[in-house]
Amino acid sequence: MDAISQIESESQGILRAAVFAARIHAGHRRKGSAAEPYVNHVLEVAEILAAHGAPSAAIIAALLHDTVEDSDEDPEPCTLAQIEAAFGAEVAGLVAEVSDDKSLPKEVRKGLQVRHAPHASDAAKQLKLADKISNLRAIAASPPKGWDHARRLEYVGWAGRVAAGAKGANPALDALFEVTYRDAVQRLAAEGWPHG
Ligand code: ZN
Repeated sequence: MDAISQIESESQGILRAAVFAARIHAGHRRKGSAAEPYVNHVLEVAEILAAHGAPSAAIIAALLHDTVEDSDEDPEPCTLAQIEAAFGAEVAGLVAEVSDDKSLPKEVRKGLQVRHAPHASDAAKQLKLADKISNLRAIAASPPKGWDHARRLEYVGWAGRVAAGAKGANPALDALFEVTYRDAVQRLAAEGWPHG
């Protein structure tokens, strides 16, 4: 395969995943007060990875990373088998690596993310970091309704613990996480504690 047709097939795969994700997330919204279409989040995660030289399997998996986890209550949930059939075993494996087991309680899932991150593949580590970068930006820009200061602070701390185990695969991404994390901490500190 020459260089140009390889670029074409990569961009085709990436756009095919973007269309697939847009369809699955058609009825999903971000938790933030702006209630952005959910697909904005997965596009942002994929773009962060592309801008930092991540492999195309990670970029494609980024577009698909929440399709299984977030469609579990839809009339036709998306499955890992569908992802494997459409995008291959490598991409499906990455999506599986970054998906929570929704049968477990939320606090257990959050603890498992911290424990599993250091053992993830390099591509999954990069995807996890980019996901947390996008989520930290969202917490700062459009916090979910009803999330008070303490809850946002707790979220930022947890994201930092997951990220600590996901570092080392891509130094530029590690640096972007650090900047984003510090910015989120500073914003929360500047808000201070609410009175009353
Ligand atoms: Zn995500």
